[in-house]
Amino acid sequence: MSTTTTAPATGTAGLPLADRTSGLVGSVIDSSTSLLAKQTHDIVRFAMGSPAADAIPTAALAEVARTALGVDRADAFDYAATEGDLPLREALVDMLADTTDATALDRVTITSGGMQGLDLACKLFVDPGDVVAVESPTYTNGSATALSYQADLLEIPVDEHGMDVEDLRGQAERTGKTPTVIYTVPTFQNPSGASLSLDRRHRLLALAREWGAVVIDDDPYGMLRFAGDPVPSLHELAAGDPLVFSVRTFSKIIAPGLRVGWVDTDPSLQPLLISAKQAMDTCTNLPAQRLVEGFLRGGYLAEHLARTRTAYRERKEAMQEALTEHFGGMARWTDPDGGFFLWITFDSPENNTEIDAAIDTEALFEVALAHGVAYIPGNAFSPSRRFPDALRVCFATTPPARIHEGVARLRRAVDELAGAAV
Ligand code: PMP
Repeated sequence: MSTTTTAPATGTAGLPLADRTSGLVGSVIDSSTSLLAKQTHDIVRFAMGSPAADAIPTAALAEVARTALGVDRADAFDYAATEGDLPLREALVDMLADTTDATALDRVTITSGGMQGLDLACKLFVDPGDVVAVESPTYTNGSATALSYQADLLEIPVDEHGMDVEDLRGQAERTGKTPTVIYTVPTFQNPSGASLSLDRRHRLLALAREWGAVVIDDDPYGMLRFAGDPVPSLHELAAGDPLVFSVRTFSKIIAPGLRVGWVDTDPSLQPLLISAKQAMDTCTNLPAQRLVEGFLRGGYLAEHLARTRTAYRERKEAMQEALTEHFGGMARWTDPDGGFFLWITFDSPENNTEIDAAIDTEALFEVALAHGVAYIPGNAFSPSRRFPDALRVCFATTPPARIHEGVARLRRAVDELAGAAV
């Protein structure tokens, strides 16, 4: 799978395309859904960041649908308020009380998934040529959204404590490029699984205040902690500072097909968010909002989260065991305390006791697919393609026995590719 992104040629079909189309780079991750849908052979799917099929609370959703979307509920199929259906906004505020994302009604706006939250943030804060700092590796769709608003990206390295905030300061000073926006996935990052340490959270906020930059705090996985100690969200640490724009979603904690998320912002931004959303989609899908509201009010979430956290911990451990068995001596991987992803980096040939060749994970993709396993190549997570030797796997979707099978297939694919290289 090539992760090279190509902009449409200016004048495609003779049409006068807007300049901004050159920033429409798309998402290798999302395209993998269509690619995999076309395959007819058995594939262990480590590619998409989807909850496990058995983690979708279908029984509870069906129960809720019977009343919330029943034959006498035509109202549930009408247009909804642009800022979100009030009963859902109220249920959301109640759900978040006593969590690190505790908030108030006038701060929350319901969105069509987390993606719309990212789009709204960039629409409000990014002008063409503005500098947006992103993690490296970063969440592809987040950097793609900034690029779609013609941002100039600054890639900031990530280690096991998250974005290297001192490097961010250093790069900004060296290049003279002061970010207007800092985009971070602070908890169980997509793709590395790393979490920004408390100290770095404080330093990131201090830097944002110094620069007057907005922090896009994109945290879809924070509620999926299965190990380690909780760290306060950037939202909590900011204590109402308008510079933090928080993007959240129900995609990972209930179901991604619902396309329901929210943004938590300074109340003064809501009129602009409403205007921006009215020019996009009028309102978020109302039947989906009603389903989510019924799910929250029905008290299903706590038990659901407890069950899925346990399953995801088992799956992460299964993934690490399988990696140790098949990739010990040739690769390193991260050890997240929650979320969906592990980031695997192949050792260079000198440090690799197993194979002599460097592994190019884009070249490996086709071979792995033929062997029946899919992942996302590392370069997809860096606009300047810094990770040819890395890849992202989602452990959350697949039961442990199949995780072992998928990793065994990946090793066979590596052996085939390395054999072909010598
Ligand atoms: N941000 C991050 C970090 C994500 O991983 C995702 C989903 N993969 C999103 C945002 C988008 O969420 P949604 O599917 O709700 O649009």
